[in-house]
Amino acid sequence: MGEIEEFVRTVRRTLHRHPELSGQEMRSSAYLQGILAERGWAIASIPHTTSFLAYKEGELPYTVGFRAELDALPIQELVGECTREYVSECTGVMHACGHDMHAALAVGLALERDAAAGKGFPNLLLVFESSEEVLPGGAQAILSSEAFAAYRPELMLAVHCDPDLEVGTFGIRGGQYMASGDELWITVHGKAAHGGLPHTGVDTLLVAAHILVALQSVVSRNVPSSESVVLSFGHVACQGRMNLIPAEVRLEGTLRTQSETWRRAAKERIAAIVEHTAAAFGAEAHLEIREGYPPLCNDRALAEGAKQLLEEMGGTVQELGLRMTTDDFAYFAQRFPSLFLRLGVGLTGNLHSGAFMPDEAALSHGLRALRRLVCCLWRE
Ligand SMILES: [Zn+2]
Ligand SMILES: [Zn+2]
Repeated sequence: MGEIEEFVRTVRRTLHRHPELSGQEMRSSAYLQGILAERGWAIASIPHTTSFLAYKEGELPYTVGFRAELDALPIQELVGECTREYVSECTGVMHACGHDMHAALAVGLALERDAAAGKGFPNLLLVFESSEEVLPGGAQAILSSEAFAAYRPELMLAVHCDPDLEVGTFGIRGGQYMASGDELWITVHGKAAHGGLPHTGVDTLLVAAHILVALQSVVSRNVPSSESVVLSFGHVACQGRMNLIPAEVRLEGTLRTQSETWRRAAKERIAAIVEHTAAAFGAEAHLEIREGYPPLCNDRALAEGAKQLLEEMGGTVQELGLRMTTDDFAYFAQRFPSLFLRLGVGLTGNLHSGAFMPDEAALSHGLRALRRLVCCLWRE
C-alpha cells in the first residue's frame, strides 16, 4: 500500500472511531482542516456551520469541485465476531452512510495533487459538507456563502459508497438519478370518546386509517406508470388506549419523486385528500409538508466521459437504475454540471444500518478513479 493510501485509510479510521451527528461535526471538521491547512491549502469556513472549503491551484486553468460529507448517524454500530480496531467509540453514533470514506477520499485527492505538485491537476475545490443527513442539509448554506462564491467550479463531483456493488465496480447513471424527498406530517383532530360510546366522539383513528388508504391512490391513480413516485408512511402516533378513542392522531410519511412536475402535482393531491377525507368524517386534519432535497440529475456528458475514463483504467462500470433515496448534492447539480457516482464497497450491510461495513480496499479504487476524473473529465 502506498504512503498516500495508507494515510487515507488512517483518516478514514480516525473519523470512523469518532463519529459526530449532523451539525455537530466540530472535531471531524477541525481534524480535516488541520491536515489540509498544514499542507498549504486555503481553508474557508462556512459561517454558522462546521462545513468548510479547501482550495489549491493546479496547473490546468479551471476548477473542479469535489463534495464530501462530514456527518454520521444515530445508529449503534454492530461489531462483528472480530472486533475491529477502529469501531465507533461513540455509543449509538456511527458512520453508517460511509461519509468517513468520502471525507478520507477528499483528503487523498489533496495529497495526490500535492505529490504531483499540481502537475496535470486543475484547481481543486474540496467541499466538506456538514449535516447532509438532516433537513435542510448543508449544501444550501455552502452554495449561498461568500466563501463559495469566490470559486466558480466548472463541474462538481461526489462519490458515494454502494454496498450493492463489488469493490472495483463503479455505478454511474447519466441524467435523472435520485429522488426528491419531502416530509409529510399529518395531524388528525377529532373528539375523544370512550370505545364503548363512539357516537359521542369523532374517531380520529378511523379517519387516519381512511386517509392512509386514500393516499395510496395518489401514485396509483394519478401518476403515469412511466413516472417514478413513491409515497410511504412509517409512523402513526396517538395517545389512545384499548377502550379510548384519542382526540388526535399523527402520521409521518415521505414523498419521493423524480421530477418537479410530479412532486408538485402529488403534493396538491395529498393536500386535497387529507383535507376532504377528514371533513367527510366530521374531523379536521392539518398537513405540514417539510420541503426536502430536490431530485438529483447527473450531467449526461460527464457521466459518459466518466464511464470511458474508468473503463480505460480497468474499472468495471455498472449502469445504475433510478434510485428513490435522496442526497442534497442535488443542489450542486442544479447549479453546475455535476456527477454523483457510486463506489462499490463490497456486499455488506445496507447504508444506514449498524451492519454497514465497507471494504477499505475500495479506498484505493476510489482514489485512483477520482484522480483520473478530476484531471481528465473536463475537456475544454
Ligand atoms: Zn445517508
Ligand atoms: Zn450518505
